[in-house]
Amino acid sequence: MKLTMIGAGYVGLVSGVCFSEYGFDVTCVDVDTDRIGRLQRGEVLIYEAGLDELMARNMQAGRLSFSEDIGGAVAEADVVLLAVGTPSRRGDGEADLSYVYAAGRQIAPHLKQGAVVVTKSTVVPGTNRQVRRIIAEERPGLDFSVASNPEFLREGAAVEDFMHPNRVVIGVHDQRGEEVMRALYRPLSLREAPLVITTLENAELIKYAANSFLAMKVTFINEVADLCEQIGGDVQVVAQAIGLDNRIGAKFLHPGPGYGGSCFPKDTRAFVATGNRFGARQRLIETAVEVNEARIGTMVRKIAEALETTEGKSVAVLGLAFKPNTDDVREAPSLAIIPALQAAGATVRAHDPAAMERARNELEDVEWSDSPYAAAEGADAVIILTEWNAYRALDLERLKTAMAGRLIVDLRNIYKPQEMQAAGFTYVSVGRAVGRVAEADFAHGRRQESGA
Ligand code: NAD
Repeated sequence: MKLTMIGAGYVGLVSGVCFSEYGFDVTCVDVDTDRIGRLQRGEVLIYEAGLDELMARNMQAGRLSFSEDIGGAVAEADVVLLAVGTPSRRGDGEADLSYVYAAGRQIAPHLKQGAVVVTKSTVVPGTNRQVRRIIAEERPGLDFSVASNPEFLREGAAVEDFMHPNRVVIGVHDQRGEEVMRALYRPLSLREAPLVITTLENAELIKYAANSFLAMKVTFINEVADLCEQIGGDVQVVAQAIGLDNRIGAKFLHPGPGYGGSCFPKDTRAFVATGNRFGARQRLIETAVEVNEARIGTMVRKIAEALETTEGKSVAVLGLAFKPNTDDVREAPSLAIIPALQAAGATVRAHDPAAMERARNELEDVEWSDSPYAAAEGADAVIILTEWNAYRALDLERLKTAMAGRLIVDLRNIYKPQEMQAAGFTYVSVGRAVGRVAEADFAHGRRQESGA
């Protein structure tokens, strides 16, 4: 079976490479010709564990290629997968589906009889039907199927997720679409990954509902962290204990500077907009979006309070990617927190193990450092924004010697407060104000208004 992937970004590239590893012939195309040229030369372009090896192996085996010739690649394909972007539309938060529809129009003249067009992009209910209409209008008489196959891979563990998914969701419209999609994922049957075969609309909705739920979970624990700070609690203990309940689960209960990245912010906004459009308001997610957007301001205030005055201070930021093990900085907290600190008069030096090249395009007046210690040189404070493993075991003595001040603001809670205090730092983290609240504050079982 021949596959053509339209869009060779994070999802298109990872899934194209992984489908070639399953043994299919895959051609990835992209309108970005520079990108295609670099991929043809074997440059991996994104930072994903294991991707370079799989890409080299399958290119060498002749199963994986990259092309600028969309028409030629589509004409040969039994299955055409759309993995183009669906960013937020400015103003109303709706998903901008124009890239998906443009791709539908672009492929239509070249599709062969019997082709199956699969949308991997995250799209709102009704989009696959619209893609079907577009192609049918462009090619009356063409016999083709459409299928929805939302992608659930996580950046930073994308290859692993693609190869060992929790489930594969497939929305179909007809029998042939279902048969071809089952064949596409047959290599996973040995791993017993459940296939959820359903309607186009259910498949589209599942992706938004899943991401919205996870974003809500993150937002929930962030608000619990705020309460922990007020009562002198420890959100790590609270999160661990509630996560041990199987009905809740431990994942996505890590407090921090709010969710970011290329999916949660835009998908929650689109979910809210879709609910409103269909007259089924999604108030929980509406609130999660609002709370998450306000969180950056809260984090900046937390840093400013710890610094006492931000004006003239030198700050070292560790971590720019929106999460570890990726170089993606789309809607990363760093892109909002760093400019806010600069606006308040601080100078910023930054380090990230993988994302500095991408962050350079988004941030101004930052001094880029090739190690966390170089970033900390002369700094009044070190701010940890991404929980890279490389930051989990810093040489604290070396860090202290490099710094001018003693303040560490750890927005990912990767260190223990007691250990950091023992090492001589003033340590500020999220939701762990243990010991800071006096017993008197809890008189009558409630913290009094005048409390600390
Ligand atoms: P991306 O921006 O990295 O890649 C999209 C690519 O499509 C770009 O390289 C762009 O040049 C190309 N493109 C756009 N229009 C094209 C056209 N007409 N023909 C050929 N190429 C075209 O985006 P991404 O992060 O890979 O996301 C793609 C989709 O997958 C989105 O809907 C996203 O929500 C969804 N998704 C992303 C992730 C993730 O972790 N990044 C995970 C699951 C789902």
